[in-house]
Amino acid sequence: MRRPIIAGNWKMNKLPSEARGFAREMVKLLSDIQERDILLCPPYVSLPCVVNACRGSNIKVGAQNIYFEKEGAFTGEVSADMLKEIGVEYVIIGHSERREYFKEDDEMVNKKLKRAISVGLIPIFCIGEKEEEREKGMKKDVVYQQLVKGLSGIELENMVIAYEPVWAIGTGKTATPEDAEEMHLFIRETLGKIYNEELAEFVRIQYGGSVRSDNIDSLMAQLDIDGTLVGGASLNIDSFVRIVRFVYSRNIGLRKNM
Ligand code: PEP
Repeated sequence: MRRPIIAGNWKMNKLPSEARGFAREMVKLLSDIQERDILLCPPYVSLPCVVNACRGSNIKVGAQNIYFEKEGAFTGEVSADMLKEIGVEYVIIGHSERREYFKEDDEMVNKKLKRAISVGLIPIFCIGEKEEEREKGMKKDVVYQQLVKGLSGIELENMVIAYEPVWAIGTGKTATPEDAEEMHLFIRETLGKIYNEELAEFVRIQYGGSVRSDNIDSLMAQLDIDGTLVGGASLNIDSFVRIVRFVYSRNIGLRKNM
């Protein structure tokens, strides 16, 4: 059984003082949650205070990016080792906003994944097609390419994959649970081919794209959706708490399209 993982990607939101208060509140409100991983991913400057606020709790902390070099003259960048030293455990890599606004390609994403793994950070590797690619019937080709190129030369163990259709991010348009499940199953099958089926069964695949408190239960009911990467709705205490407390209604063992 894959352990669900719910992550909040705050993007460039919340001042450090707000981040600290929010994290403390989360620690209080979610202290009873077991058997689920909960992750907060604040901006870099808020990482130390969020790590402190979450210390000793069931909430883990992730960063939103790293640079792929170990160290050196790379003004403005932050290394994986730096994050590791302050107690960060996860890092989001290849988010569509980084691919779009900062021109990160699959090759760079691959280098970042390797760097993260080399220091023991758990990557959340983001993939997903754009609207026009989906309309042209290319969604599976795009995701396949992102997986093959992004994972080149990488051992899969201890990695989370986030399927985030770009047209669903921050738009209020969510993939239907069935649509998302179809892609998650495709991703798992592709991992099975690249690596092996046994390993692919262990990999957690999150869905991301306008996840809210009113659609989380139906998404998590899908057999291959193992968690969610949440942007907008993770900024609000009530909605994020409800998302973490999603209600399971799975037909374990019944894969709909088998
Ligand atoms: C995200 O940032 O990864 C995301 C899915 O954002 P939102 O939930 O706002 O669509």
